Amino acid sequence: MRKKVGILGGTFDPPHLGHLIIANEVLHQLNLDEIRFMPNQEPPHKERSSGTTGKNRVRMLELAIQGNPAFKLEKIELERSGRSFTVDTMKVLVEQNPHHEYYFIIGADMVEYLPNWHRIDELVEMVQFVGVNRPNHRMESYYRIIEVDVPLIEISSTMIRDRSKAGESVKYLLPDNVIGYIEENRLYGS
Ligand code: ATP
Repeated sequence: MRKKVGILGGTFDPPHLGHLIIANEVLHQLNLDEIRFMPNQEPPHKERSSGTTGKNRVRMLELAIQGNPAFKLEKIELERSGRSFTVDTMKVLVEQNPHHEYYFIIGADMVEYLPNWHRIDELVEMVQFVGVNRPNHRMESYYRIIEVDVPLIEISSTMIRDRSKAGESVKYLLPDNVIGYIEENRLYGS
């Protein structure tokens, strides 16, 4: 049987409940077999601004998905040197497993930028895009995407970094074990 694999690419700096909720909704609403969280390489300027390393982001994701056997970590982009284009990454994944069906999940904020993605015409042939709604963003796409309705969640990594820096509470916005890791490692000026 063909395996249905969802891919949620992102910076995950840090991962939060928005990521986990949309992944879970897509998993169940589209009857996928697994969701892979795929951290990307940060552009050098962004990496310096938040102060976290790829290793920090991987560890936080491991903690965030702990205990859910359908949630996996896909480290392919971090293991390659330099930033990779999604189309190149997906090409490698498709070659590794030609029988998998890939569902690439993006929030509504990303949908409008799809036409600017590198070699998007090739990419849409390789994966099925899945768009999930996000507060303050309308989903209008020129490409064929599956829209999945998820509860609107007004949480972003930016919000968590800002609150941590300001010494404000981030409890319930992301898993407790990730909050613990952030505090122990004094990330985001916490
Ligand atoms: P930042 O605030 O640093 O830009 P982010 O919260 O948008 O980060 P990313 O790691 O960039 O997090 O997001 C990965 C993917 O998850 C993107 O496709 C993004 O649109 C989607 N996403 C993140 N948060 C939400 C949310 N609250 N609702 C819907 N989609 C989301």
